[in-house]
Amino acid sequence: MIKRTFLAVIGAFLFLSVLSFVSGDNISAPKKQRVIKTIIVDAGHGIRPNGGYDGAKGSYSWEDDICLSISKLLIQDINREFPEIRIVETRPSDKITSLYRRAEIANENNGDIFICIHVNAAPPQRRSELLGYKKVTYYVGKGKNRKKKTKEVPQYRYWTEPSKARGTETYIWGAHKTEDKELAVRENAAMMEEENYKEKYGAVDVNSPEFVVMALLKTKQYFKRSATFAGMVQDEFVKVGRVDRDVRQRGVGIWVLQATAMPSVLIETGFITNREEEDYLNSKEGQQEISNCIITALKNYVAWLEKKQEDGEKESKDDAASDKPSSTAATRHFLEMVEQNEKSKQVK
Ligand SMILES: [Zn+2]
Repeated sequence: MIKRTFLAVIGAFLFLSVLSFVSGDNISAPKKQRVIKTIIVDAGHGIRPNGGYDGAKGSYSWEDDICLSISKLLIQDINREFPEIRIVETRPSDKITSLYRRAEIANENNGDIFICIHVNAAPPQRRSELLGYKKVTYYVGKGKNRKKKTKEVPQYRYWTEPSKARGTETYIWGAHKTEDKELAVRENAAMMEEENYKEKYGAVDVNSPEFVVMALLKTKQYFKRSATFAGMVQDEFVKVGRVDRDVRQRGVGIWVLQATAMPSVLIETGFITNREEEDYLNSKEGQQEISNCIITALKNYVAWLEKKQEDGEKESKDDAASDKPSSTAATRHFLEMVEQNEKSKQVK
């Protein structure tokens, strides 16, 4: 009797081991997930309620209209190249959407990447030219001692010229704005549920230390992804011969980039204040070229994310330093900066 019970226990144990081995195998088998399900396309600016344009003015066109045209073209191209990806527009018409609402739309729709389309502007440059000298008479002293004198005064001509600034630049949020981004991640806790947060950590308590740590890790992951995608976008612009103004971080003014709880980039597609670029930005060919560049960058970004997924998605604390995305020096510079930020925090 005892022997039989013992054997039964051993048998059950073996059976369970096999079962757990099988089910364990199932769990560890990489579940191939779509790395991007939703893209948020954010056309900058738009016509204000009072009827005025919000964006920059060129010599004959407005930033608002160009942003919308490029965004519409980009959406059409994403639909064709990535039919399985859902696209959400924050500004579907010529009317303006508030910045707050843009971030809200992006977050409500659980975007996987936020692509913001803008057009750059540079103030006109003041120029001067020396025309010659003019003889000016003046007097010194008083009464008897009063003397007449002359002097040469330079004569200038002043005028303004449109800035020569040209090219594209892609922004990500500034590293010093990381706390804002982290807040956005925490405030949009519902998004975490999509990524099995509940299964892993239980109900979302945004104030729990675990959640705060997780939000920080997410923020770092978003920074890395934003910098990588931004670098890929700039790489494509360079390939078609645009002037590269690099990936940049902006301290102020791009609130949407830190308010969206997802990787986010803002693309300044060219300068409306440069006549040649204004023509390019308004042309069908120019707009198509810009869209093509973003589409190729998206393909590279998706491939990079898929590779990451295959490698086991080991995006841990030191990941930012150890793994090198295929991109520009600027991207690497950002990643180094994140690492340094992290080190300085640890020292404190
Ligand atoms: Zn703008």
